[in-house]
Amino acid sequence: MIVDTDRIEAALKEAKEPSEKALSAILKEAEGLKGLSLEDAAWLLKIENPAKLKTLYDRADEIKQRIFGRRIVLFAPLYLSNYCKNACLYCGFRSANKDLPRKALDSGELINEARALEKMGFKRVLLVTGEDPLRGLDYIINSVKTIYGQTGIRIVHVNAPPMGVEGLKELKRSGAAVYQVFQETYHRPTYALVHPAGPKKDYDYRISVMDRALEAGFKDVGIGSLLGLYDSRFDCLSTIAHSRHLFENFGTHAHTISVPRLRPAHGSAIKDGGLAVSDEELKKIVSVYRLSVPSAGVVVSTREPEPLRNFLVHAGASQMSASSRTGPGGYAGATPALEQFSTSDRRSLVEVMASVIAEGGLPSLCTTCYRIGRVGENFTKITSSGGMEKFCQANAVLTLKEYTLDNPPNGRADIFTRAIEKALAEIKDPAMKKEVDRRMEELERGKRDLYL
Ligand code: SAM
Ligand code: SF4
Repeated sequence: MIVDTDRIEAALKEAKEPSEKALSAILKEAEGLKGLSLEDAAWLLKIENPAKLKTLYDRADEIKQRIFGRRIVLFAPLYLSNYCKNACLYCGFRSANKDLPRKALDSGELINEARALEKMGFKRVLLVTGEDPLRGLDYIINSVKTIYGQTGIRIVHVNAPPMGVEGLKELKRSGAAVYQVFQETYHRPTYALVHPAGPKKDYDYRISVMDRALEAGFKDVGIGSLLGLYDSRFDCLSTIAHSRHLFENFGTHAHTISVPRLRPAHGSAIKDGGLAVSDEELKKIVSVYRLSVPSAGVVVSTREPEPLRNFLVHAGASQMSASSRTGPGGYAGATPALEQFSTSDRRSLVEVMASVIAEGGLPSLCTTCYRIGRVGENFTKITSSGGMEKFCQANAVLTLKEYTLDNPPNGRADIFTRAIEKALAEIKDPAMKKEVDRRMEELERGKRDLYL
């Protein structure tokens, strides 16, 4: 069994708002960076008292800082195709939505999309696609190769339907760095209800895909629950249990845990917002993920509005998408919007970066880990010991410098200059400082893609 849902139900039944003493004991446990038991996590999710919530968020922030420093990694989704054979009630791409114009990018359009993102300053993209036999594995693999071969995008993550080990091996060989699939909900009856038809109906095939991905050689996998389909606390604990299963069986936790919250979508059969998850609930979930799986990148998308995203920078989040369009062809502007769902935060990359800086964070466009093998088990070990810090800080500041050289942030230049100076001043190791200074000069002279 991948996730013991009986244990999770029992934990939720037993859980109460912790007393101050119980809360301190749980948070003390989290300081060891070994995660929390599902039972302790269930108690944290019960907190309602504002002072205790603040303590929770502050501790999640501290742990995030110990592992990832002030960095917030930025990326953009790139939608390949909105053809889909599935019937997911919540999604605009579902097959029953006859109003949606269907579109799959050809290779020219894909290059235009990736170059449009590159021009904005992105180095990392997440390919996203519907499930369709005509645009299956070969199409996805060709897309990954096209991006690496024809554009300056440095790292490609893939969010594509579950497949078998052989397919995953091929996908890995194409250079996909992270394979991501959300279970949507771990609650079987709800899963069956919202996935009435199509291959995605098969709960077991979906939940087991990360085992296959790790078996196929992927080192980094991304998981998540679509919050709002079922009791979000149940799905939060199940996601943690899923990550723990991967750790126990493959020695690596989920590389990322996303927190997609249900959004309105044209053609969705869920009109009332589902089981609305409040902002406060989402903040708790982000911080509980941080404390329970400290090495995971906790990813907050543009489904969330700007003020909440700003808050989550201080509650354990470590990655954010920016400037996202959720339909194929959304960036190069050649095709009309063919969106999967509507986003809340429509700001440009530079605006998101500026507000990350204003929140005290350090925006990072770094893609080094995947390219030099700090991945999987290795990544989990190094991050859990706090050993990433000095490299990542250095690489973040190098990518920030590169960004400002290629995309002068007009009107905001001083904000970025100060952010770079502050980040440089935080590098205490003299040898590291010297290496970074040398690379900063090389960047000024026109060299690119420099890292440690
Ligand atoms: N089609 C593939 C699949 O379903 O696994 C991969 C991509 S799907 C386009 C990406 C994710 O979008 C889904 O896993 C789901 O969690 C999320 N999603 C779908 N409809 C949504 C909605 N209305 N609001 C927010 N997120 C949604
Ligand atoms: Fe298709 Fe994925 Fe949307 Fe379901 S969530 S309808 S599988 S694109």
